[in-house]
Amino acid sequence: MSKPDDMETRGGPASAAGEERLTDLGTVRGLLARHGFRFSKKLGQNFLVNPSVCPRMAEACGADADTGVLEIGPGIGVLTRELARRAARVTAVELDGRLLPVLAETLAAYPNARILQGDAMELDLHRLIGEAFVGLRVAVCANLPYYITSPLLMRLLESRLPVDNITVMVQKEAAQRLCARPGTRECGAVTLAVRYYAQPEVLFPVSRGSFLPAPNVDSAVIRLVIRKAPPCPVRDEALLFRLVRAAFGQRRKTLPNALTGAGVGKAAAAEWLRLAGIPETARAEQLTLEQFAGLANAAAEHPAL
Ligand code: SAM
Repeated sequence: MSKPDDMETRGGPASAAGEERLTDLGTVRGLLARHGFRFSKKLGQNFLVNPSVCPRMAEACGADADTGVLEIGPGIGVLTRELARRAARVTAVELDGRLLPVLAETLAAYPNARILQGDAMELDLHRLIGEAFVGLRVAVCANLPYYITSPLLMRLLESRLPVDNITVMVQKEAAQRLCARPGTRECGAVTLAVRYYAQPEVLFPVSRGSFLPAPNVDSAVIRLVIRKAPPCPVRDEALLFRLVRAAFGQRRKTLPNALTGAGVGKAAAAEWLRLAGIPETARAEQLTLEQFAGLANAAAEHPAL
């Protein structure tokens, strides 16, 4: 992991002359007051006011003249501006309609940035990308609303969006879980799912004081580089993830006991483990993705056991 955010660094590489900084507390408070805006905790509204973070995120996702960037939750547009300065096009999906007039003001000088009001959990993102970014390499870059971090990331990964990478800010604990190495205690069902679709990496930590209002947890920026092909052969992906969820659902139990949560008989589970060369005494967090794949393939080949 590289060095933490630096509150001393001021401004991005190409701030427009005379433009108000969206990381300046006085400017942000004035802007929000003028629009009568009040933060919604429910929507995970903690806006970035640390000037060094957004330029680093924009660089990390590879935004350049050949890239279209999908942002989720632009807030008042602080990251959107950094993306629009570098990328060919930016489309940002914001759920809170109260932010649209704010964004119209803060992004007025960025004609390559488009705001779409909607719920990132509901919108047809394949269609959106297909229409907005023809001929461009695509990246997702966002400071995610924390209340939907895992379901949203799983939605992006499972729907196999045609994107190169997903570079996002998440809570520090979520970053550790999402990017944990399989076979370690930090690992959970979501770790293995992420590994199946992407190569994850924690890029840098971000302190709670970098946000307005400050949340009571620290954060980190992670990058998921999307795999072109799965890392191991899997006959039935749905079955793999059903077994992974059941195994981590009762992570303290040995696998034959934990898998009963997926409706699997103990004898069948024991036989699949034997076929996959996994000891019966193993627990979920001790298995690699390849071992879970072996287990799921044994189950797919011998479903009637
Ligand atoms: N990008 C801004 C920044 O870094 O300052 C704001 C980030 S804030 C953590 C999360 C943003 O996501 C808020 O603007 C919130 O309104 C928006 N949001 C929450 N739920 C959403 C959803 N389901 N779809 C799209 N946007 C959402």
